[in-house]
Amino acid sequence: MLLEVRSLSTAYQGLLAIQDVSLSVAKGEIVVVAGANGAGKSTLLKSIAGMERPRAGEVVFDGARIDGLPGHLITARGIAYVPENKRLFPRLSVADNLRLGRYLYRGEPDADGPLERVFALFPRLKERLPQRAATLSGGEQQMLAIGRALMTRPRLLMLDEPSQGIMPKLVDEIFSAIETIRAAGVTILLVEQRLAESLSIADRAYVLQTGRLILTGPAATLRDDPEVRRAHLGI
Ligand code: ATP
Repeated sequence: MLLEVRSLSTAYQGLLAIQDVSLSVAKGEIVVVAGANGAGKSTLLKSIAGMERPRAGEVVFDGARIDGLPGHLITARGIAYVPENKRLFPRLSVADNLRLGRYLYRGEPDADGPLERVFALFPRLKERLPQRAATLSGGEQQMLAIGRALMTRPRLLMLDEPSQGIMPKLVDEIFSAIETIRAAGVTILLVEQRLAESLSIADRAYVLQTGRLILTGPAATLRDDPEVRRAHLGI
């Protein structure tokens, strides 16, 4: 397993947002965490990324505990996190936003290797290098946020609702980019409100409800399960 989350609980002002959550992600997998608004999906990713401090439980990455480490050290170990609000630098150019991603990378410097891979994935970004990030469309901003995360050369990429607020055509583009990123050897933990779409690219899925995991299994099994289809896929 590349990532193991064991009995993780995180609270805000004493109120538990996730409770006793355990999940694992094997090298090379795409794993989806689905669930309604407020189920705790973002809190789970923030707790893994070192943005929120869990109250209990463990996060083990590549055999070593990382819970309690500050976010930049977690990035340095090979976990990149694209938050829901993307956290781009709106007044900086596309090129500078990407450069900042590379700045966070602490391994062997490799000239423009990662940059070329980002351009191959999202050719639109190459066309818009001098443009300020704020002037990009929602979909392009998402591409830039993913591109910047890839500049840190992650082994695990965590994405928080990359399809949110994006027109359908670009959602397809982003989902197929996620598959390409995985094919290049990066493991993916994807948070999505929409289970149906994400099951189409995932190997396995977990469903969170009010802070607890209520369901897990291989994507194909969940897709065919009559109860899941009724309760979670609206079929
Ligand atoms: P969404 O899809 O709406 O982002 P989510 O599944 O990602 O939902 P979280 O954002 O993790 O859910 O929120 C889980 C719970 O924790 C919610 O009840 C939310 O109101 C609460 N919460 C989240 N962030 C904070 C915070 N900074 N302070 C207090 N409560 C918070």
